[in-house]
Amino acid sequence: MTTQHPFSLAGKTGIVTGLANADSIAFGCARALHEAGAEMIATYGHAKAERHVTPLLEAMGHPELMLCDVQDEAQVEAVFQRAQERWGRLDFLIHSMAFANRDDLHGRVVDCSREGFAQAMDISCHSFLRLAQRAEPLMTAGGCLITLSYYGAEKVVPNYGLMGPVKAALEASVRYMADELGPAGIRVQAISPGPIRTRAASGIRDFEALAEDAEQRAPLRRLVSTEDVGRTAVFLISEAGQSLTGGTTYVDAGHHVKA
Ligand code: NAD
Repeated sequence: MTTQHPFSLAGKTGIVTGLANADSIAFGCARALHEAGAEMIATYGHAKAERHVTPLLEAMGHPELMLCDVQDEAQVEAVFQRAQERWGRLDFLIHSMAFANRDDLHGRVVDCSREGFAQAMDISCHSFLRLAQRAEPLMTAGGCLITLSYYGAEKVVPNYGLMGPVKAALEASVRYMADELGPAGIRVQAISPGPIRTRAASGIRDFEALAEDAEQRAPLRRLVSTEDVGRTAVFLISEAGQSLTGGTTYVDAGHHVKA
């Protein structure tokens, strides 16, 4: 009998959301998960992304690709229906998405609109709860739910604005979800990467300055890659991560320890 390496994901099945293009953190995760042996359904949030995502299929091991706008209940339902049909169970889910409209993101938090705040919370935070609710009955042998956060959840980061309180709510949700789902062996985690040049990041004003500052001040004096995030996701999902839940794992070259 061969024993499986504790970092192997052979035989594990899951869903990776939030693909936009080759720069996406979701792509870094899907590629690393595939390399570790996992099988998955990969989803993109907007129809326009399909042409950017299709060329990436090979690197992700040809996952089934589905459109899934989290605000569209029918699309969300279809993804879990498909997982149920294909595998009858799930081992992991990665929630890698965020949205805030520019006016609200670029203004003061104090001034953000009621609608803009609600929309940012719905897409970037409450959607994780909705996906978890659907994943739970399929995680019959336990599982791992991962979301993506950022340091702006706990400290004021210039220009992160509205997303700061939204990510704070997301990290608090992770703690409550971990406690609620833990008895079923379902672990819940946030990964908090340092700045990475992605499409979402390009919506943050002066993102280049933020990235340069992180590079200079992080203990490792470098930025991180989507591959770094993906490998951390592999670890958290794998047997090796089986005693971790409820926390935020920083993949930021140590930046969060620096004042
Ligand atoms: P990205 O633009 O590649 O991914 C963002 C994704 O959110 C896109 O695929 C987009 O389609 C999706 N999305 C937006 N609205 C959606 C909706 N209604 N339904 C479904 N999907 C929707 O950028 P990214 O940087 O890879 O972002 C992924 C996650 O990582 C986000 O939660 C982001 O806040 C987080 N994050 C990013 C950084 C960074 O510096 N890039 C740092 C820390 C955390």
